[in-house]
Amino acid sequence: MDYNQASVRVEELRKIIEENNEAYYVYDAPRITDFEYDELYRELKRLEEEFPSLITPNSPTQKVGDKTIQGLKELKHKYRLYSLDNSNNYDDLRKWYERTKKEYPNEADLDVVVELKIDGLSCALSYENGELKIGATRGNGIVGENITQNIKAIKTIPQKLSKPINIEVRGEVYMPVSSFERLNKENIEKGQKEFANPRNAAAGSLRQLDANITAQRDLHFFAYTAITEDKELFKTHYEGMKLLEELGFETNPNYSLEKGVNPVIEKCEYWAEERFKLDYATDGMVIKINDLAKQNELGYTSRAPKWATAFKFPPEEVWTKLEGIELSVGKTGAVTPVALLTPVQLAGTTVKRASLHNFDEIERLRINIGNEVLIKKAAEIIPKVIRKREEEDLGVYKTPELCPDCKTPLIKPEGEVVLYCPNSLGCPAQIKGKIEYWASKEAMDIDGVGESIVEKLYEKGLINDFADLYKLTIDDFMTLDLIKEKSADNLYNSIQASKNPSMTKFLTALSIKLVGKETADLIANEYPTLDAIKNATLENLTQIDGIGDKVAKSILEFFNDENNKKLLSKLEEYGVNPQGSAFEKISNIFEGKTFVITGTLSAPRNIFEEKIKKLGGKVSGSVSKKTSYLLAGENAGSKFDKASSLGVIILTERDFVELSEENNNEEKF
Ligand code: NAD
Repeated sequence: MDYNQASVRVEELRKIIEENNEAYYVYDAPRITDFEYDELYRELKRLEEEFPSLITPNSPTQKVGDKTIQGLKELKHKYRLYSLDNSNNYDDLRKWYERTKKEYPNEADLDVVVELKIDGLSCALSYENGELKIGATRGNGIVGENITQNIKAIKTIPQKLSKPINIEVRGEVYMPVSSFERLNKENIEKGQKEFANPRNAAAGSLRQLDANITAQRDLHFFAYTAITEDKELFKTHYEGMKLLEELGFETNPNYSLEKGVNPVIEKCEYWAEERFKLDYATDGMVIKINDLAKQNELGYTSRAPKWATAFKFPPEEVWTKLEGIELSVGKTGAVTPVALLTPVQLAGTTVKRASLHNFDEIERLRINIGNEVLIKKAAEIIPKVIRKREEEDLGVYKTPELCPDCKTPLIKPEGEVVLYCPNSLGCPAQIKGKIEYWASKEAMDIDGVGESIVEKLYEKGLINDFADLYKLTIDDFMTLDLIKEKSADNLYNSIQASKNPSMTKFLTALSIKLVGKETADLIANEYPTLDAIKNATLENLTQIDGIGDKVAKSILEFFNDENNKKLLSKLEEYGVNPQGSAFEKISNIFEGKTFVITGTLSAPRNIFEEKIKKLGGKVSGSVSKKTSYLLAGENAGSKFDKASSLGVIILTERDFVELSEENNNEEKF
């Protein structure tokens, strides 16, 4: 590219970037993804580096973004706020580190703090004698918006500190992902605008002229910088973080002090994967030189500190084309649409399919095959479709009327959004689905019996339900294509070996509508025999914590159905005999106590669940008045808030260990 071409492109990029800044900062309604924005920004930066005479002081690369909105009062910051330079690859991160280290040739490695980059709205809070005086947005870094009243509406921001000092605290106001989803759901129901992501929801909720609206939104604050004139208070960023915690602020727990760049890269790799498990949005990692004296020496550019940099994660959202919609019939007859996409890279993996949930969702999104759609990686493994390009109208995909497999007219039970094929005994997709599920890891865990074997056995007419698996002989398997004697033996043996499952596995494997592993477990704990379950009434079942009316009805319906009765007798006849609860109690110290587990603990959650059950307690998925204890690990989110508001006792992992050991001297945890 020559100078003239570069000059035209630079102008074009600045215009596009400024337009998108307005949509993002003023209206909290971005039109492109952050990844696309960052690509444009990097292109501009590259061109300016190649042709430095094109740099102007007004270029977006030379100033802090953000614009103030009308109505909020402007305020000049006491200490200037900056943005952060960022990269999206480890080479650039290493280069930043090497460049910085060159300034300190006598040191083997530099101390750095690596922390999560929270995707919210940055704010500066000013305290005098320990009292909150001013809260402001970043604005252009020199002038921000005065949002003191709105800041005071955020419960987790202390209005009075534990020490009467003068200090400016900076951090990120954010909305938990679960609260963002709830808010959007409510907004859709009320016909109001949806927020594009948790960052925009936080910004839109905070920058309100009416602080009462802010107070109604679930906003939180992670503090990440302290500034004070008293140079003796702390001398490193890490000490500053500890002081913030002492003063009463929440800091994000995932920060650590490291030496050199390699451990930093390990953290970036770790969080690029793990971030989807968090209940708040994070778009990268921030790496800061720890020593404040060094930070001072390194200084700032017009836009960002030289002593810090950000590593941006691969995009969570990306645009691609909806090539088709696959209709899949599940084991309970639910017909669900799955988006088939032009393959695209998203958060480090190639994505070809995305969830569309149900046909009401397709209607809501107003999408059709051929539309460009935005897909997002969330906590679930399969990404979901968020929206289509607003301007692109190709009509709405027509909801099917017939089962795609057996052509039976579909039904939509009252009060449900899902369409069902009612032909449960004759629909091949449902029959095969139930058998496959019966054999799956989550259910009976029968080695070797997967989709292709089930398909072959069904096509040969050897099985028509999962009980039929138990009458199969080795010779039956030998009649299947490509099955050798050894595999036939193995398949036969693994089926026979599954005849004495735990009651939880057995109930899960039956494919009762609305009954997954967790619910099956709750029932199995109360009713360890099949007869006991068959005799349970609606009232008995709803008394189990975690089982509501709908689930209880579905269980009764299942056991009262004549075909299911036949299926259960057939299983019994073939010697399939469930063996009671999966958890043998070793003590009753938690008898009558219900636990809810939340956040990240030092071991997988099922270890704690098992422990609670072994000691006679119950585990439930949601916090209610009946909850006795909330076991809260790191990053506990909305369950923590709900438990606090209901006065439920909250246990840390250490409290839990002490409680179980105190009461149970026989077994140490
Ligand atoms: P930035 O968000 O990339 O980084 C700087 C900000 O990170 C700081 O101001 C602070 O608020 C925040 N931060 C979060 N955690 C932090 C921590 N632990 N320590 C220090 N700071 C932390 O930069 P920016 O200038 O605020 O915004 C630019 C970015 O905003 C772009 O890279 C893009 O992702 C997004 N943007 C998107 C659009 C769009 O149309 N999609 C438009 C404008 C900006």
